[in-house]
Amino acid sequence: MPEVLIIGAGISGLSCAWTLKRLGIDTEVLEATSRAGGVIRTENIEGYQIEWGPNSIQPAPAALKLIDEAGLWNDLLPPDPHAPRYIYLNRRLRKFPFGPLSFGGIARILAEPFIRSKSPQDESVRDFLIRRFGRQAHDRLAGPLFTGIYATDTAQLSVAAVLPRMLEMERNYGSLTAAMLRSFTRYQKPATATTKRRPRGFTLSFPAGLETLPARLAENVTIRFGESDGRIGMAPVTVLTIPAYRAVKILEQRYPDLAQLLAKVRYSPIVVAASSLPEHTLKEPLRGFGFLVPRSEGLHLLGTIFSSALFTGRAPEGHVLLTSFIGGSFEPEVLDWSDEQVSEVVGSELQRVLDSETKPEPVALVRHEHALPQYNIGHERWVASLREELQRTPGVFVTANYLDGASVPACIEQADRTAHRVAEYLRRNG
Ligand SMILES: Cc1cc2nc3c(=O)[nH]c(=O)nc-3n(C[C@H](O)[C@H](O)[C@H](O)COP(=O)(O)OP(=O)(O)OC[C@H]3O[C@@H](n4cnc5c(N)ncnc54)[C@H](O)[C@@H]3O)c2cc1C
Repeated sequence: MPEVLIIGAGISGLSCAWTLKRLGIDTEVLEATSRAGGVIRTENIEGYQIEWGPNSIQPAPAALKLIDEAGLWNDLLPPDPHAPRYIYLNRRLRKFPFGPLSFGGIARILAEPFIRSKSPQDESVRDFLIRRFGRQAHDRLAGPLFTGIYATDTAQLSVAAVLPRMLEMERNYGSLTAAMLRSFTRYQKPATATTKRRPRGFTLSFPAGLETLPARLAENVTIRFGESDGRIGMAPVTVLTIPAYRAVKILEQRYPDLAQLLAKVRYSPIVVAASSLPEHTLKEPLRGFGFLVPRSEGLHLLGTIFSSALFTGRAPEGHVLLTSFIGGSFEPEVLDWSDEQVSEVVGSELQRVLDSETKPEPVALVRHEHALPQYNIGHERWVASLREELQRTPGVFVTANYLDGASVPACIEQADRTAHRVAEYLRRNG
């Protein structure tokens, strides 16, 4: 019997297992499916290399440290260094950040240091950003950006859960601009998680796609695939890394209070559609990260990544690969659309946005019913209740994308912290 049983081999489970192994703790991972990586999945179809989950990750310290430890540092693939992001506004692609703003909108952002209000309890991301930077900055920049990350309405998102650093800055300095200027003037190089130089690029992947990372981790930890019957008590410690609604099934009999809390986690659905286009049908070569669409534009598309422009080797010569997202909490019914309907909507909206001669052809699509957990107002109180409940269930740990951030780097950082907490628990109770 291993000392620690981890349920789920997504990036949360794998990175937790990785750290535990380095700490010398006997660990086994149970994975319900036949592959590791969870939502991180790269697939090659007819010469297109498609990401069905995250397309790239930000170079955050914990993620870079893991990549280094896994021996993948030299494989990191930086993006096109001149990859602007766009916002589709009033029927045109406009360069982020200033393109979508009017003179008045920019002036309102610059007035931020003079805004003297404070965040009330349970403020939404929308209200916070409008209060500090003005309605235009929210509606045209931050709103689409947050929708791109969480696939939900900023009026529902909790600022305390999603932007805790900004709240702290406001609390301590009265203004985010003032806090940032202060941190620049007092800048000290942060303790780096690895000894290597930070790689080039604001976002990163690997030549063979993002699945390279979980695949490498999986080769180096013990995993039993096709195992969906993991239970609490099969090892001295169990770490749950699976989606909340699945953890409920494991907990409901013996730990009904914990199960009830986890049953509250809501997810937004997303349909990911990969499309292609011959390069010559575009008026200008495709450059950039991709575009986001404010809800006011009335499109179904939430955003599209210019996958083949961002990283090399994503599409056959002379073709472009576009990865589009529709649905989210705005339009959950797209999950029930037929493949033909998704392709028709995505193809015609892409043609309009890119102003291309022909409609992009569908390559393939994937439906995520539970794509992204929602960090809604009240999230911090819910997390505090969960942590309290976990104190009453010794030997049970949770590390997952619905607690401290849904991004891949956030999952890695949280899993590393959980692994150290597990090690401490075993030392005390071993
Ligand atoms: C479409 C999409 C785009 C995204 N884009 C980005 C991005 O660009 N950048 C970024 O940083 N993040 C992005 N994210 C978020 C990020 O990818 C996820 O939050 C993260 O990968 C979740 O990892 P996880 O290990 O917590 O969960 P999962 O990946 O869900 O892994 C859970 C694992 O548990 C297994 N499992 C489930 N039930 C059981 C059971 N009973 N027993 C055993 N195993 C079980 C599952 O099969 C799965 O392998 C995106 C997510 C989605 C869906």
